[in-house]
Amino acid sequence: MKELVFDRVPGLIRRGPGTTKRVAITFDDGPDAMTPRYLDLLDELGIPATFFVIGQSAEQHPDLIREYLRRGHQVASHGYDHARFRVLSTRDLLYQCRRTEAALGGQLTGRPWVRPPHGELDTRSIFALRAMGYTVALWSLDAEDYTDHDPVTIAARCANAQPGDVLLFHEGQQHTLDALPIVVEQLRRAGHECVTMHDLFAV
Ligand SMILES: [Zn+2]
Repeated sequence: MKELVFDRVPGLIRRGPGTTKRVAITFDDGPDAMTPRYLDLLDELGIPATFFVIGQSAEQHPDLIREYLRRGHQVASHGYDHARFRVLSTRDLLYQCRRTEAALGGQLTGRPWVRPPHGELDTRSIFALRAMGYTVALWSLDAEDYTDHDPVTIAARCANAQPGDVLLFHEGQQHTLDALPIVVEQLRRAGHECVTMHDLFAV
């Protein structure tokens, strides 16, 4: 993906304003059987997060979608079945997005947000998503918890978070759960407040 080009596309966001010490923790690929543990841990840590969920899994777990929202987190789309957007026809992309929105019961942010699977986009899919009114939400700090299973290394990768950073994590992984308290403690010590991605960009 050509980041320099896509950074200038309106409606495609990656990093929040660097003017205040606020960051957003985000989780992709849920909901699943481990979601309640993520939610309990976030309650313990006292922070809100943003969950980019897969439509198909959301259809199977409407209770968990309600639970994310009840506990004050932001829920947004991560596509219907995690297919790469650039390989879907525009018609299929539209259908997948609509079906995911139906499973989410609508997003609460005013306009819907979507994070493309694997962060992969091409010009056609960006235009299709923008035409549907989506804000395309990427990230600026990848914890790489999909390749790295060591909580300490994952946390170390997040140690240098800057104001406005959007941190990328994944659901369904014990090592991510183990890394989170270390990550949040580091952020607190550095004076960062954790907010939802929506709040990070609302300023
Ligand atoms: Zn994903």
